[in-house]
Amino acid sequence: MSYFVNEKGYYGDFGGAYIPEMLYPNVEELRQNYLKIIEDESFQKEFHQLLKDYVGRPSPLYLAKRLSKKYNANIFLKREDLNHTGAHKINNTIGQILLAERLGKKRIIAETGAGQHGVATATVCALRGLECVVYMGEVDIKRQAPNVARMKMLGAKVVPATSGSKTLKDATNEAMRDWINNPVDTHYIIGSVVGPHPYPDMVAIFQSIISEETKKQLIEQTGNDQPDYVLACVGGGSNAMGMFYHFIEDEKVKLIAVEAGGKGIDSGFSAATTALGKEGVLHGSRSILMQTPDGQVVEPHSVSAGLDYPGIGPQHAHLFKTGRGLYVSITDDESLQAGLLLTQMEGIIPAIESAHALAYLEKMTFTGKENVVVCLSGRGDKDMDTYMKYFNL
Ligand SMILES: *Cc1c(COP(=O)(O)O)cnc(C)c1O
Repeated sequence: MSYFVNEKGYYGDFGGAYIPEMLYPNVEELRQNYLKIIEDESFQKEFHQLLKDYVGRPSPLYLAKRLSKKYNANIFLKREDLNHTGAHKINNTIGQILLAERLGKKRIIAETGAGQHGVATATVCALRGLECVVYMGEVDIKRQAPNVARMKMLGAKVVPATSGSKTLKDATNEAMRDWINNPVDTHYIIGSVVGPHPYPDMVAIFQSIISEETKKQLIEQTGNDQPDYVLACVGGGSNAMGMFYHFIEDEKVKLIAVEAGGKGIDSGFSAATTALGKEGVLHGSRSILMQTPDGQVVEPHSVSAGLDYPGIGPQHAHLFKTGRGLYVSITDDESLQAGLLLTQMEGIIPAIESAHALAYLEKMTFTGKENVVVCLSGRGDKDMDTYMKYFNL
């Protein structure tokens, strides 16, 4: 059994490209070219050069000594929070902008919810001098003023989506409409391992640098590139897929994916997709998503904007269904407490998304020998308002 995509664009029962006919030429152009371009030597050279000199890679693998003592295991943190722009998302946008250039595209579009992917996209467009249009729900524009300002300062045009609930899914519809109308000169940068094939595979390949580096760093630090556990939070699932990628076929390494439980799985305010969801089609691929019995997408909730998504990427759905990965959830309260704990024990303020992965350590038991890697997907600067309100700082 394979855990990776097949020629038809599927991971077991999941994946594919469920798109309107008008989008077919764009997606097909990408499908036919993405592997050829990515595997090309000049692409690899330029990609790795930018990851090194612009993003600041390799990101450190840090043995958190005080946390290790507390949990009775060797807890390693993969420091994606130290990347330029503060999270793992830049790995993917660098990859996609280089790919867009090689496809001859002059214009980039993206959609964003919390604004983090919009900022990562606007950043690489400024870097390469490409036109950038970011679609964002009108409600989200009001909620995420600092990120809107960042995108504008970086030269992007932020276009409000004014239909429906005026949030992420409406922004996605607007971006799709734009791409249909501008098939020749425009590339659509999707920010996670979601969307029609080949996006989930392409984004996973760009993010796989996380586990590629981790294996080398584990050899240097422990003499063994095989940890007992790797943990990561899951919104759409891109930092998790990057963290899992080079460990997937090594069944001795246990993969733990942490979803946002919100106020609790049964509270009606949750984003715990595998616990609450059913199989269906979302954003162009077959996966698992939160939906009503008649197939309407359920509005998710999480204290962390990056995990506030009603689905997961198709490869995650496959890892879940086959049992290769363990999918669990952590509540808003548990994640905020874990964020405070890391801050006070290691001097690192994590993104609340990443704090979900850290919080799951509380629910595990160790013998003192295990090597555990947690993907610290981003830094907490953007979350200070939430931390301040919650802890009365
Ligand atoms: C966007 C984001 C996430 C969630 O996205 P994935 O595609 O699931 O990785 C997690 N952590 C941080 C810091 C983010 O910005």
